[in-house]
Amino acid sequence: MLAKRDYYEVLGVGKDASADEIKKAYRKLARQYHPDVNKAPDAEEKFKEIKEAYDVLSDAGKRANYDRFGHADPSQGFGGFGQGGFGQDFGGFGDIFDMFFGGGTRRNPNAPRQGADLQYSITISFKEAVFGKETDVELPKEEECDHCFGTGARKGTKPETCSVCRGTGEQETVQNTPFGRIVNRRVCGACQGQGKIIREKCSKCRGTGKVRNRRTIHVKIPAGVDDGARLRVSGEGEPGINGGPPGDLYILIRVKPHEFFERDGDDIYCEVPITFVQAALGDEIEVPTLDGKVKLKVPAGTQTGTYFRLKGKGVPHLRGYGQGDQHVKVVIVTPTKLTEKQKELLREFAGISGDHYQEEESSFFEKMKKAFRGE
Ligand SMILES: [Zn+2]
Ligand SMILES: [Zn+2]
Repeated sequence: MLAKRDYYEVLGVGKDASADEIKKAYRKLARQYHPDVNKAPDAEEKFKEIKEAYDVLSDAGKRANYDRFGHADPSQGFGGFGQGGFGQDFGGFGDIFDMFFGGGTRRNPNAPRQGADLQYSITISFKEAVFGKETDVELPKEEECDHCFGTGARKGTKPETCSVCRGTGEQETVQNTPFGRIVNRRVCGACQGQGKIIREKCSKCRGTGKVRNRRTIHVKIPAGVDDGARLRVSGEGEPGINGGPPGDLYILIRVKPHEFFERDGDDIYCEVPITFVQAALGDEIEVPTLDGKVKLKVPAGTQTGTYFRLKGKGVPHLRGYGQGDQHVKVVIVTPTKLTEKQKELLREFAGISGDHYQEEESSFFEKMKKAFRGE
């Protein structure tokens, strides 16, 4: 086995290189020796060596150990690193490749890119959420300038490729140090990373290539949406860059609460007051629903807080057929303003009932009596 090269030497950085410098050096070398790019017979070996050096030097703990013990540190198993343990963690060239070539770290400024997504929020009423709504929303929107077709250059002229960076948007400076070459990359100062220079700017968009318009978009809010739902209107976001596709528009739905109805999923809840006479004798009452009044039979002897279900009177399911139910809670309202005559009758009622209604009535009274007796 050949003697292992010093990791710092492999990456071409100094012993005191910062984490950032190590990363940059690694990226530069990885791009150069990646086996998918570099077909030289020793490229793969070279790449492995670079990767190994980076794995150690990019990890503060491993680096400290390496600085102390070099390749010989037994506790870290560095000795066997070159042959054995290295393989599994090296497995996919693909991932590493993506990281450098597909990833966002260094992008060609001239490549087509999708426009940004926009979000817009709209507040609708409870009923509109239940039944759906079609509406127009007006929103500010950046669009490609129709004067220069997004190039930003005055009519009849074209943006020129930046001569400093030759259109890449980046400038490289190479520094030769005793440890090797250090390559620095930064945004091109001549074109601000755009890769092109506009000599004469478009008069309408002042060189930005974009204009702000107000746009009206027709939106169909489906029946059954709930508070917090997001609708996607595809292609209505910001325009794409360099001919890329536009982004999407997201419409965030906010639903105003209703003063009578409450919603839980596709079910609707409400409370209906009844008198104790209605509760005791039974009655047919009218209950509001979202699509008009319905009749509800309250059986004799109904207790306060009892729920009745109106099937299918809830919210339509957003996906698929059918709808939820409406749950009606009846609440017995105790009268507060009684005439003398009414009081008289109630006293008579109590007199007739005596104690026995407590005896035979629901377990509620039984439980209370037990509580009085301290059971
Ligand atoms: Zn323009
Ligand atoms: Zn440039």
